[in-house]
Amino acid sequence: MKDYYEALGVGRDATPEDIKNAFRRLARDTHPDANPDDPSAEARFREIAEAYEVLSDPQRKARYDHGEVFGGGDLFSQFGGLDDILQQFFGGGFGGRRAGPRRGPDVGASVSLTLEEVAVASNREIAFRAPGTCERCNGLGAEPGHDPITCQTCRGAGSVQVARDSFLGRIMTVAPCAQCSGRGQIIEHRCTTCEGEGLVTVERTVPVEVPPGVEDGTRLRLSGRGGAGERGAPPGDLYVEIHVEEDERFQRVGDELHHRVEIGISEAVFGTTVEVPVIDAAPETIDIPAGTQPETVYRLNKKGMPRLRRRGRGDMLVHVGIVIPTDLTNEQSEVLRSYGDLRNERPAERKRGLFRR
Ligand SMILES: [Zn+2]
Ligand SMILES: [Zn+2]
Repeated sequence: MKDYYEALGVGRDATPEDIKNAFRRLARDTHPDANPDDPSAEARFREIAEAYEVLSDPQRKARYDHGEVFGGGDLFSQFGGLDDILQQFFGGGFGGRRAGPRRGPDVGASVSLTLEEVAVASNREIAFRAPGTCERCNGLGAEPGHDPITCQTCRGAGSVQVARDSFLGRIMTVAPCAQCSGRGQIIEHRCTTCEGEGLVTVERTVPVEVPPGVEDGTRLRLSGRGGAGERGAPPGDLYVEIHVEEDERFQRVGDELHHRVEIGISEAVFGTTVEVPVIDAAPETIDIPAGTQPETVYRLNKKGMPRLRRRGRGDMLVHVGIVIPTDLTNEQSEVLRSYGDLRNERPAERKRGLFRR
């Protein structure tokens, strides 16, 4: 474990002022922007900043003195980040690197599928609008025949050294060149199609293979299929949101499908057969035995939805409901009342119509 006092080169009895001064001195020497050619400078700076983060806070210092261990990565995410410390001391984070061409933007699109389509792998063409490379200038932003010229301010580097006054005094940092916006090149004659951006919004279609078993709201990420990047920078990603339409026949719960059938009283009593739909196959016949009770559930193995990116599929559950009729004819009514009498049931008396005296 690293010793924070050692890292800052102070004794255990150092005062807050000592600690601050030690950090100020060390930070100036190891600041990454002051050491652009030393790749280990950032790691050393982090160590010093971490030590300062803990020792400059009386509570954390006390916990550290009692043997508590602080994790470096956690510490910064917990207390606002290394960039915050840099902001505090130098008035800027690690922002001084050459800006460089920007990566293309991530683009969102959506596609709607029926439940039946989701039960099998389906290929769809997804159409969307996104920045694409301008064909007139090949993405360079310059009118054909007028090549970009090297920026004189930064001599093509895209970045310049600037002196920054900070808490630590004056230090040299690297900033993007303002003249060329960090490009290193100046375009004198802008491409008339893209106005120098190198990018134009285009209508694109991308084939997408939707894996069987996706859920409503699933987002598929297609790496590198989003918007084009600036001047050869990598493209962004395409995110396709899947919408799965409701199905009248099935209710989906995870990879299970629920289907409901209604049978009559006599069918429940004497048994019957019913035909039920299957999501991706011919209907199946189920034998309902005599004496079936309301809300009996039959399980059809592996007739549900495929498991996303796994083997196998869920089951289909058939819920059997029993219809209590509310539209009996006189004849049916008489039969049922006789049945009630024989069973010693006591149904309510037949209601007389309001106007029949
Ligand atoms: Zn420049
Ligand atoms: Zn262009």
